Amino acid sequence: MERLALSRSTLDRAAHRRADPGLIDSLLDDPRTRVALFHEGETAVTDAPTVLLWPVESVLNLKTDGQQFFLGTDGDGRDYLALSVSERPAVPEGVRWASLREVGSLLDDTGAGIFTTAVALTAWHTFHTHCSNCGAATGVAQGGWVRQCPECLREHYPRTDPAVIMSIADQDDRLLLGRQASWPENRYSTLAGFVEPGESLEDAVRREVAEEAGVVVGEVQYRGSQPWPFPSSLMLGFHGRALGSEIKVDEVEIAEARWWSRDELQADIKAGTLVLPPAVSIARRLIENWYGAAIPDDPSGW
Ligand SMILES: [Zn+2]
Repeated sequence: MERLALSRSTLDRAAHRRADPGLIDSLLDDPRTRVALFHEGETAVTDAPTVLLWPVESVLNLKTDGQQFFLGTDGDGRDYLALSVSERPAVPEGVRWASLREVGSLLDDTGAGIFTTAVALTAWHTFHTHCSNCGAATGVAQGGWVRQCPECLREHYPRTDPAVIMSIADQDDRLLLGRQASWPENRYSTLAGFVEPGESLEDAVRREVAEEAGVVVGEVQYRGSQPWPFPSSLMLGFHGRALGSEIKVDEVEIAEARWWSRDELQADIKAGTLVLPPAVSIARRLIENWYGAAIPDDPSGW
């Protein structure tokens, strides 16, 4: 699976420039620089829709919360900066503030890449303010891509937590979907879970399905990946083949799980008794990959 909603990006990250002394200041000095503004996980989105990119001179007087990231450069050599502001500035007509979950699947490739990267970096900085080695407060370096400890000098890099998510089919090629205990009655999705230390991706798939639904999985195949920066996951998508059809849910994480044939899936969506995850999620793409076609989005969905 390619071109997942949050796996699209067009900028060259130009990582070799992150160590340039005064990189952020020089970007703020260059009238060609374009700036994406962020506030509490939201950015300004045009009705195109794409992320509104501000000319650098229009953001110089805004109050920031200190988070600024060099995002990279485009094919014309123009640089892009993400800036986190402490208040939302007024936006032109036709522009609104929106979250990545809301608009991630609607944005153009450049906007999706900028938004996803900025949300991921913002979350990492917010939750990693101190050195995990000695406990001292760390400072930001390398254009926002490193935090450095002033005491023990250790460098800390943005982290990404691998999580597996899987479409599981039985011997009749029916799809396994589960409902989390906290979800409304009709909402179902593929099972998912974090990879544990010392575990392969394939074993994580088998363990999670066994734990949550009591289903034993044999063969497992990789399908694709996308970042899920809420706050720091990388979703690794798989398709697995169940060795039996008996289900026993854990009743902790998963309240209900069952098998759907393609006909049953279609009928239940139509009847409103099954609501699938939104187009921004890799879960939706895994379900469509099994189904064999795109499933039209239900505006009353998640
Ligand atoms: Zn330290």
